[in-house]
Amino acid sequence: MEILTTQLPSGGYKYPFTSVSVSPMTFLEINKYSENCPKDPLEKYLYDIKFLAQEDPKIYDCYVMDIDFLIFLKKLITVNEDQTTYTLTVKCPECGKEIKKKINLEKDIHFKQIDSKIMEGAQIRLGERAYETIIPTVREFLDVFNTYLRYRTVDDLKMIKIISLIKNFKVAGNQIEKDILGATHSDITLLMALYELYFDRLEGIEVTCPNCVKEGRRGVVTMSVDSLVVDFFRDLYNNCPIDQSKILFK
Ligand SMILES: [Zn+2]
Repeated sequence: MEILTTQLPSGGYKYPFTSVSVSPMTFLEINKYSENCPKDPLEKYLYDIKFLAQEDPKIYDCYVMDIDFLIFLKKLITVNEDQTTYTLTVKCPECGKEIKKKINLEKDIHFKQIDSKIMEGAQIRLGERAYETIIPTVREFLDVFNTYLRYRTVDDLKMIKIISLIKNFKVAGNQIEKDILGATHSDITLLMALYELYFDRLEGIEVTCPNCVKEGRRGVVTMSVDSLVVDFFRDLYNNCPIDQSKILFK
């Protein structure tokens, strides 16, 4: 399936191509994925990126904010045959009840509106120093990411993503790392705002728990989109039952 770059969280800002290919995983791929997918969150992220890039190498030229959406999308379209609605099972965080939630790709998945001004980057001050931000593509992000995969001086994906937002990592990496990890007070607020601006573009989805509503609680929980596909292999089996025409016993 071809996803138009205008449908991505970045709105396709300054992309030199108009679409990227993302297809549902085949049986073979699902098996490979579940056998080989690393447990370590950093290795897993790299694995997910490479998994997408196998199908379309243009992935390396996409922004990281778009990749996070595409990783999610690939799992979603693997789960359901119909390519616009997806039924997922989520656990109510209040009472633990399993709720079936039907998600419509066009109606339920929303991005925070992107402004072309923020896509041009910014000048920021962190502690004593002035920095310039970039909006990293996967290729640019991997330059930073590979350093941390190797040396593990930082093993928090969120932190590494924030570090990748600062220009000139190659020459000033140590200083940038120090200023970000050691940030205090309003600098933390600034870094969190940058993270939300450049990575966290997907709005959460509201799920209503009938059990909680019955017991007088509000029962509305906002699920982050990532948390919705945690169990996507189980959802695959639940939502794609075989019908009578597929198998005929002798
Ligand atoms: Zn509940």
